[in-house]
Amino acid sequence: MTNLLSDPPVSAEPTRRHGPRLCVDLAAVAANTRLFAARTDGALMAVVKADGFGHGAVDVARTALGHGASWLGVTSLEEAFALRGAGLRAPVLSWLNPVDADFTGAITAAVDVAVPSREHLAAVLSGGIGARVHLQLDTGMARDGAAPSAWADLCRAARRAERAGQLQVVGVMGHLGCADDPSDPDNRVGRARFAWGVAVAREAGLRPPLRHLAATSATLTDPLSHHTMSRVGAGLVGIDPSRSTVLSPAMTLTAPVVGVRRVRAGTPVGYGHTWTAPRATTLALLPLGYADGLPRAAGPRAEVLLRGRRRRLVGRVSMDQVVVDVGDDDATIGETATVFGPGRSGEPTVAEWAAWADTIEHEIVTGIGARVVRT
Ligand SMILES: *Cc1c(COP(=O)(O)O)cnc(C)c1O
Repeated sequence: MTNLLSDPPVSAEPTRRHGPRLCVDLAAVAANTRLFAARTDGALMAVVKADGFGHGAVDVARTALGHGASWLGVTSLEEAFALRGAGLRAPVLSWLNPVDADFTGAITAAVDVAVPSREHLAAVLSGGIGARVHLQLDTGMARDGAAPSAWADLCRAARRAERAGQLQVVGVMGHLGCADDPSDPDNRVGRARFAWGVAVAREAGLRPPLRHLAATSATLTDPLSHHTMSRVGAGLVGIDPSRSTVLSPAMTLTAPVVGVRRVRAGTPVGYGHTWTAPRATTLALLPLGYADGLPRAAGPRAEVLLRGRRRRLVGRVSMDQVVVDVGDDDATIGETATVFGPGRSGEPTVAEWAAWADTIEHEIVTGIGARVVRT
C-alpha cells in the first residue's frame, strides 16, 4: 500500500449495475417446507405475507406448494389478489382487512377471509353470496381475533348466515403469542382457549373442517397445537423463533466495495464522528445503508465478510452507505462483501444482525429496501 498516511479521495463506481444484491435460495425454502410438512399430520399453509417475509411472495409460494404446502396465507386481500394474479390456484386465506376491503373480489377470486368481528361479518356478507370464512378468535394476544366475550355471538351470527346460504364457515383460527418459548405456561392457556372456541362454534351448529392455531414455533415444538393445519411463515425462510430446529436460511445480501481509502490515526468517520481511527487503517465503502434495510442500531457491533474475514462496520450506518475497517489488509474497488448469508463461509447470519440491532430476524429480512436488486 502506497500513500500510507495520505488521505486520497474516495472513488466510486459510475453505475449501480453491480450494486447491493439480495440472493434468495429457493432450494432452502424447499428443504424447510419439506421439514415442516414432515413435522405435522395436518395440512401446511405457507404464510407468504410481507412479500414472503422479504423473499418474494410468489417465488416462496410456488416453491412451498411444490414441496408439501397445500395452502397459502397472507395478511391483506391485496396480497392474496397478487398471488392469484401470478396464476397460483391453491387455497388462499387473508386474515387482516379493513371493513371496506374488496370482499366481493375475494369471492370472485376464491380467496378465504378471516372474520374477527360482527362488523367484518356484515362487510363480508355485503360483498356477495358465497364467501368462505375462517372465524378468528383471540387466543391470548389482545390483538387480531374476536375477544372471547364476543365469540359466541359471532359464531351464532355466522351460523345464521351459513344456514341462509350466504356464506360457508370453513375454519376457526387462533394464534399463540408465546410459542417461541415452549415452556411458557401461556401456551397451555392459548391452546385451552382455542379448544373452547372450537367447542362454542360447534354448539352454535358450525362444523368447520379447518382448525388452525400453530405457526412456526408451535409447529416445531408443540404437537398439541397442530389441529388440522399449521400456518408457517418464518420457518419456510429459515427462521426458527423457538431455536429448537436447524433450518436453512434462504437469504444472502452482498454489496460491492465502491471506495477504498487509507486514513491516519485520529481520522473521524461518518456522521457525528462517532468513531475515530485509533491507528492508521484502511477503510472500505459499501453502497448500502439503513434505507436498504441495514439497521442503524446495529452500527457499533455489526460486521461483514470481506476477503474471507469478518470486518467491523465503523462510524454510523448512513442512509445509503457504510464504512468497513479492513485494518492493514488490502481491499479493492469492485470486490464483493457479504453482509449476511447462511453463515457457511463465515459470513454473518441474519440472526447475528438481529442480535446486533436488538431485534428479531423477521425485522431484518422484511426490511430489505426496494432498491436492492433481487435474484
Ligand atoms: C405471521 C402469522 C403467521 C406465521 O407466523 P410464523 O411464526 O412466521 O410462522 C401465522 N399466523 C398468523 C395469524 C400470522 O399473523
